[in-house]
Amino acid sequence: MKALVYKGPGQKSWEDVPDPVLKEPTDIIVKMITTTICGTDLHILKGDVPAVTPGRILGHEGVGTITEVGSAVTSLKVGDQVILSCISACGHCDYCKQGVFSHCLGDEGRSGIGWIFGHLIDGTQAEYVRVPYAETSVYLLPAGVTPQQGTVLSDILPTGYEIGVKYGQVKPGDVVAVIGAGPVGLAAIATAGLYGPSRIIAIDVDANRVEQAKKFGATDGVVSTDADWKDQVLALTDGLGVDVAIEAVGIPQTFTMCVDIVRPAGHVANVGVHGHPVELALQDLWISNITISMGLVNTDTLGTLLKLVAQKKIVAENFVSHTFTLDNILEAYDVFGRAAETKALKVIIN
Ligand code: NAD
Ligand code: ZN
Repeated sequence: MKALVYKGPGQKSWEDVPDPVLKEPTDIIVKMITTTICGTDLHILKGDVPAVTPGRILGHEGVGTITEVGSAVTSLKVGDQVILSCISACGHCDYCKQGVFSHCLGDEGRSGIGWIFGHLIDGTQAEYVRVPYAETSVYLLPAGVTPQQGTVLSDILPTGYEIGVKYGQVKPGDVVAVIGAGPVGLAAIATAGLYGPSRIIAIDVDANRVEQAKKFGATDGVVSTDADWKDQVLALTDGLGVDVAIEAVGIPQTFTMCVDIVRPAGHVANVGVHGHPVELALQDLWISNITISMGLVNTDTLGTLLKLVAQKKIVAENFVSHTFTLDNILEAYDVFGRAAETKALKVIIN
């Protein structure tokens, strides 16, 4: 089959690789219908995620059709269309039992990024993918939800919601700021809106993305290259600062920006994947009673979010800006990587 293979920092190749095969009785093989590119793929390609080594097939999102099922799989069958969670999880290890699916140990005892597609196991930017622990890792695509809409549920919607909104403890009436209005930040904006905040402020260097954010429910936008960006945010909060600042970029500067605008007793929810250490001014954070949270998405909210997408309470197609065919995936990367020029959000690869 053809797949997009990571070749080391800055290098990737669309090439022939062996077809995946069932390795465990709990596996399935899925023929991809749609996949997409995530900001995390760009981090991997920059070399920010050194655990990902050359030879790995990239990609952790998508929808496909089951072509083979392992002997222990009873609730799924060949021909079913399924949404892949970006992490597969065994459902029975110590971490899974605690709901920390992102740290699933699996039967091999491999925690951390072990079961995220396109990290230590091969990913979805390919014609076929092997899905370990299938019965606890995929969701049937319901009638009325398209594969394109379903693809947005693999990662970005659960990530923006779980690590941004839920960890940030957004409450009715809160002022929420989201720094980084890429697909993940927009997912945080769209799902923060479900909680009735008084304002959602979208902050980005890219004025186009700030504008796009209004379609997802942002009430206000601030372009962070404006010299007075912080004053603009404070002016929207009666000078107090925001209740919840969500970081959805993954660079030290934007984490610091969150700290700069959060009010005493507020919450900084870091979603971005950082490739470099971030300085914490603990003396300032401590005296201000700030809570900081962060982490890998667990995708345990995927089923709930899927219902909201089916009911159009979350308009998944708003995230899709471009579509490409799988054999044009390199062009898709180019367009996604130059989002400031191309106005790309989620690029769907069919
Ligand atoms: P993206 O690259 O498409 O979007 C990032 C946005 O940040 C862009 O709109 C960009 O213009 C903006 N930006 C860049 N520099 C900025 C600055 N200095 N100030 C303000 N805005 C700035 O990425 P994405 O796909 O939306 O993902 C966002 C982050 O979430 C990435 O770091 C990604 O790795 C991470 N992520 C985390 C998890 C998790 O489990 N926690 C899961 C998926 C993605
Ligand atoms: Zn991702």
